[in-house]
Amino acid sequence: MAYAGPVRPTETATVVWHPVAAGAVTIAGGPLGARQAANRAAAIPSGLKQLREAKNVLNLEIAAGRAEGEAVGPIFADSDVHKWLEAAAWEYGRSADPALLDDILELTGLLEKAQADDGYLDSVVQLRGLERYSELEWSHEHYCAGHLIQAAVAYSRTTGRAELLDVARRVADHLVATFGPGRNPSLDGHPVIEMALVELYRETGERSYLDLAKHFVDTRGRGTITGGRDVGYYSDRVPVREATTVEGHSVRAVYLAAGAADVAAETGDAELLAALETQFASMITEKEYLTGGLGGRWEGEAFGDPFELPNDRAYAETCATIGGIQWAWRMLLATGKAGYADQIERMIYNGFISGVSQAGTEYFYVNTLHLRDRSVPDHDRTPARGRVGWFACACCPPNVMRTFSSLEGYLASTDADGLQLHQYLPGTVEAGGLKLTVATDYPWQGKITITVDQAGSGETTIGLRVPAWAEGATLTTAAGTDQVTAGEYASVRRTWQAGDQLVLDLPLTPRLTAPHPRVDASRGCLAIERGPLVYALEQADQAESVAVDDLRLDPAGALAEERREDLLGGVTLIKAAGSGPDGPVELVALPYHLWANRGPQPMRVWIPLR
Ligand SMILES: [Zn+2]
Repeated sequence: MAYAGPVRPTETATVVWHPVAAGAVTIAGGPLGARQAANRAAAIPSGLKQLREAKNVLNLEIAAGRAEGEAVGPIFADSDVHKWLEAAAWEYGRSADPALLDDILELTGLLEKAQADDGYLDSVVQLRGLERYSELEWSHEHYCAGHLIQAAVAYSRTTGRAELLDVARRVADHLVATFGPGRNPSLDGHPVIEMALVELYRETGERSYLDLAKHFVDTRGRGTITGGRDVGYYSDRVPVREATTVEGHSVRAVYLAAGAADVAAETGDAELLAALETQFASMITEKEYLTGGLGGRWEGEAFGDPFELPNDRAYAETCATIGGIQWAWRMLLATGKAGYADQIERMIYNGFISGVSQAGTEYFYVNTLHLRDRSVPDHDRTPARGRVGWFACACCPPNVMRTFSSLEGYLASTDADGLQLHQYLPGTVEAGGLKLTVATDYPWQGKITITVDQAGSGETTIGLRVPAWAEGATLTTAAGTDQVTAGEYASVRRTWQAGDQLVLDLPLTPRLTAPHPRVDASRGCLAIERGPLVYALEQADQAESVAVDDLRLDPAGALAEERREDLLGGVTLIKAAGSGPDGPVELVALPYHLWANRGPQPMRVWIPLR
């Protein structure tokens, strides 16, 4: 079934491209396919178990009148159930497992029962008898509602069933009746409701949801959110359409920006879109780690000042990179600029999948770029503990789950002329009158073979993203082999026949990357990259146990590849010339996202020069 993915702009939205329906894309293996399979087989069952043990589900049972007791956990405990429900809904869409549906319906039944007559639904606030919306800067009531709405949209799209959507619509109708011009002017401290309301508008056609989302975007940035922190923490210092950068809590900032991009698309607001382009450019130039990690400050889980990007104290919350992917996808659809798809790729292959173990059931909250020798695990979230099964504040694990579960929704798009492939995963894509098979061992190898299995009549354009790092890339068609330009889409227009092939060859020569000269923390260092993958030195791979912290890189030395099928499910290592305290030594780098799959141990991305 060609169900829509997480983002489905309306036909009248001002977007250059529309996403290919998630249900019209399949992923068949490859590293991300393996992660997606582990997500379904291990993470989602484990996640529900964790939500039961942490009593998030019990809160709903009590609120539904099916159990007794007091609410347990953080005020936003419901949101993690909602994110799990969203993940489960996408999984059910891909493959309809009755047991999974039973779990979805059990939780949906609890939400129906727990919901107040006027549509309000937040079990922790209800059970604790707190006054609704009295502390919206910290109560996360809109945040919980937003995640519920997103889950309901996913369930509606994948099943066509209304149970959860009915609950979500009652929540949204209640919000519309309560907030907006002439009503309660308060804003939630943690955005996500903006994205959610726009998507609910897209799903139902109810204009008041879009209007309320626009209201929340338009009224933010006026310093009205008080709650013990500087207004910048809540992205409430500068109006969204006047801001030139991102600031404050990184997850909040990118969720807000993604929601603003949705509002801009559905209202044709070119000024707002332009402001978001400026903010995104500032973020990736000044406030993003090489890994796609966002947020250089532990304090406030925040973006720091421009170029404040410490490696050993990187925060780079998994959720922030996920929000970055969501924002970048909306910007890609709105602008058709390849750089946004490059960013999605950087984030997915590095700062996102670093957030979860290969097995799929252990998580990093914080994605550091440097773990020092003898680092002390002094904090719930410290990377020095390695990945763990759950957190007291468990935002990241179910966020990882729903992202893997909806990954098909971020890979391809269409326009009136044809279709565009943004990410290269093995599998199939059906859109624009074409059915394609993509065969590739990317990102380990750079050859991507696209075969036309079915074609309609008339000319259609296939656009293929050529990443900005892929200088020297070639595209082979029936007419021959041509160089294609890095950082753009290579387009081929013709009347396709079944059996036609396109072969895109992206050179994956390992490269050394220099930091921005203003990033003091990385000055005098280089990083190793290969294709979309950022590499790191991890202690387990280094010869003679020379401490990672003592290794130096010789930038004049050659970079050599070594394929190791026996290591971590198959991995391409890169060997570089360098030195330790006692003389020359070979440095061995592995993809950053795989670090700490052999236990926590010293690691660094940026390597000092000899
Ligand atoms: Zn998180």
